[in-house]
Amino acid sequence: MYKPLLLPLILLFFACTSGGNNDKAAVGKKLILKNATLIDGTGAEARQTDITIERGKITALNSTVDTAEAEVIDLSGKTVLPAFISAHVHIGTLKGTSANAENYTRKNILRQLQNYQQYGILHVLSMGTDRPLLFANQFYDSLKNGQLEGARLFSAGIGFHVPDVKTPAGPPMDLLYRPKSAAEVPALMDSLMQYKPRVVKIWVDDFGGSAKKMDRSVYQAVIQEAHKQQVPVVAHVYNLADARQLVADGVDVLGHSIRDQLVDDELLKQMKANKVAYIPTLTLDEFAIAYAGNPEWINDPFFKQALEPGVYEMLHTADYRTKVKEDPQYARNVRAFQHALANVQRIAQAGILIGLGTDSGASPVRVQGFSEHRELQLLVEAGLTPLQAISIATQNAAKILRIDDQYGTIEKGKVADLLVLSANPLTDIKNTQKIEGVLKAGKWVRGGND
Ligand SMILES: [Zn+2]
Repeated sequence: MYKPLLLPLILLFFACTSGGNNDKAAVGKKLILKNATLIDGTGAEARQTDITIERGKITALNSTVDTAEAEVIDLSGKTVLPAFISAHVHIGTLKGTSANAENYTRKNILRQLQNYQQYGILHVLSMGTDRPLLFANQFYDSLKNGQLEGARLFSAGIGFHVPDVKTPAGPPMDLLYRPKSAAEVPALMDSLMQYKPRVVKIWVDDFGGSAKKMDRSVYQAVIQEAHKQQVPVVAHVYNLADARQLVADGVDVLGHSIRDQLVDDELLKQMKANKVAYIPTLTLDEFAIAYAGNPEWINDPFFKQALEPGVYEMLHTADYRTKVKEDPQYARNVRAFQHALANVQRIAQAGILIGLGTDSGASPVRVQGFSEHRELQLLVEAGLTPLQAISIATQNAAKILRIDDQYGTIEKGKVADLLVLSANPLTDIKNTQKIEGVLKAGKWVRGGND
């Protein structure tokens, strides 16, 4: 009779007594990063400080801490920032030079989350192309909670699209919800809620006239039903007119740039008033045209190491370059990129929340890990400051994921998800690529002394 109770009690006793302070690898060991140049993600200027980490959290930010019984690492000359958060990616379907449903395995998902981690990205939000296996057997919960190695994963589950669409190049969309009318939305939303999605994803785009666009009545129903469940809605968008309607109808996040024209003051005002966030995914638009030639990063090891096998070779074939250049959409894509760059500056000036997202993982050229760093460079090219770009990749993206109570900034009490760089990105934003180490909840997952 007593056995079922007794065993857990004995185990509890051992758990309490064996994790003592003498164990060098114990989670309780204090780690002090001394003399770091800190960029805390809040938008505050860089400052010199020590960072104390205990049990995975930041417990002090000052230079007079007690170093007794602590592991002390001197970070003089290094810059520490919060690990990045990418709020628009696709996970699991890309492998080599193809993106398809067969690639979507636990192994492939884990591999990609490890890659993000190597690039200093410790949270990603997968935007609506996930598949049931992610949600089976607590796999998703373990990834979301950071119990498995690699970046933590949040998911939009399965997104909403139109009934009959020739999907553009990208992740497989065979499982998406495709309501024929607003009346079909509530039942589909019930089905989606079984996956506990972080956001609901909708596509509102005619893809340059190649597809039918979602009816306004349908996306109104999606927004309404999602909000009943307290889940925010992220819209794939391209045109200003669609953005205007979506914002008026209560959308929470625009998941791409407005790319057909410059955004006007009226929409800026309404986005601000409705607290609509914006994820520009500038790299997506750059990658649509960059490989017509040889972009400056093509032989950079930081880029090459992030590539799926075969992609480097693919990019170097004359065929691929010709395909990009002679794409009937090429001129449209060039304009889209210009509009995206101009619009992000207007959106930033209007004080609208902008978060990092790239669409990385949707296709072989949207390279996971590299894209996130390139996105910051494009934000700076668009006229934002490096400090703004870093807040976008940290604090702001955390707000979009609604994890900013624990992540996204380096403040006392927050989880110690840190990126250590050998050079200061405020002097050159490309210095985010000079990664010395990555700490996930206070544990080195790249670099460090152990
Ligand atoms: Zn996407």
